[in-house]
Amino acid sequence: MNAYNFTQQIKAVRQRANILQNKAKISPLPSSEILSKSLEDLSVALEELHTAEEELHQQNEELISTRQALEAERQRYHELFDFAPDGYLVTDLNGKIQQANRAAAKLLSISQNFLNGKLLINFIPDNERHAFRSQLLYLQQMEPIQDWEIPMQTREKIRFDAALSVTVVRDDEGQPKGWLWLVRNITPRKQAEAQMRTIQLENLQLQEVTKLKSQFLALMSHELRTPMNAIVGFSQLLLRPPYNHLPIPAQVNNIVQRIFNNAKHLLELIEDILDFAKLEAGRLELRCEEFNLAELVTATTEELRCLAEQKHLSLSVDIHLSNPIIINDSYRLRQILVNLLSNAIKFTDTGSVAIKVLDIQDRIMLIVKDTGIGIAEADLQKIFKEFRQVNQYSTRKHGGTGLGLAIVDQLVHLMKGNITVDSKLGEGSTFRVELPTHFEQFCIEDHEKT
Ligand code: ADP
Repeated sequence: MNAYNFTQQIKAVRQRANILQNKAKISPLPSSEILSKSLEDLSVALEELHTAEEELHQQNEELISTRQALEAERQRYHELFDFAPDGYLVTDLNGKIQQANRAAAKLLSISQNFLNGKLLINFIPDNERHAFRSQLLYLQQMEPIQDWEIPMQTREKIRFDAALSVTVVRDDEGQPKGWLWLVRNITPRKQAEAQMRTIQLENLQLQEVTKLKSQFLALMSHELRTPMNAIVGFSQLLLRPPYNHLPIPAQVNNIVQRIFNNAKHLLELIEDILDFAKLEAGRLELRCEEFNLAELVTATTEELRCLAEQKHLSLSVDIHLSNPIIINDSYRLRQILVNLLSNAIKFTDTGSVAIKVLDIQDRIMLIVKDTGIGIAEADLQKIFKEFRQVNQYSTRKHGGTGLGLAIVDQLVHLMKGNITVDSKLGEGSTFRVELPTHFEQFCIEDHEKT
């Protein structure tokens, strides 16, 4: 039932009333009969009218609630538009702003009301306007444009990098009548990208410098090692028969001994630098073989026993291996042991140094424990970094380069193992190395100890 139908219904009731009136005028029936008949008709007509009125009332209610829902929906869309975190603008086909949300006004640093009626091109820097205009010309024929990056400017001409997404707004006939612009400030992203590019470039330069440094170190060490080997070899020769039995003054013998000791020390330093340079450059390769770990540990400890004896330290070896045969690089494993043991002896003035070796399933544990000066908790992680000597006084006294543990750490990791240290200042240190019993991956066959 609508308003038109209702009017028709009223007309029909009126017509009936007229008919009744006319009938009454010309009817031969007595007036009481006419009245009763008329009342009956009227009652039917009123009933119909009442029903029609109720229907109309109900429709009216429905109309009101539909209108309220529509209004609420419109309000919701308006709020979505207005409070959207990104800037939204509606312009006509000439780029004249007709509507702008809060974010757009904030981006362009102008109040929403003042924005209406302004040309969008005012917010494009002068040198970019030509490009913007040409793009506008194409806009109508184009699909929606996504992330068109262009510099924009605020009312105070402060530039920022913007990403624009543009969609055509069409009228009821489908003809373009304007554009909906999504404006996002991408300056922080652009700055982060530029920063990232600078960092990448610096990183590349750094890598190049590190590579050059490693190459230089390797080359220098190699060049230095050759003559040093000759000095060590020949001075050692002079200390052995028959030369040490020659009638030369003891003083000369003493000098030769010193030359040998110092040259050997220097050679060790050069070896360390060479190894470190190789590890840094990722050029150190492990050469694996099957060998007896118990024998290696015993022999290495015995090589260092005289150093411990010179300091009156007890040096013990404790080996518990279910299977002493392991696969690894014996030369590099010996290097790890020598470093840990000589450090333990170097940094212990009284007491003992002990090495313990055991295996747990397919892992071996090498534990080097001393009763020496210990390491402060804050320094425990630093000592594995190259050139770190944590106790300046004691290292001046003990010498060293601070490369030993850095090499050990890198070697252990290359062997897919792990190294940890427990220590307290003044209470000694315990270094634990855990390695796989069969380390074959990444190994190459011939061991060329360069
Ligand atoms: P270097 O021994 O040549 O100085 P390392 O890399 O072998 O270099 O050791 C780094 C530093 O760690 C040492 O200078 C020393 O301060 C500390 N350190 C290493 N081993 C011990 C140890 N067993 N006891 C106390 N300090 C140690």
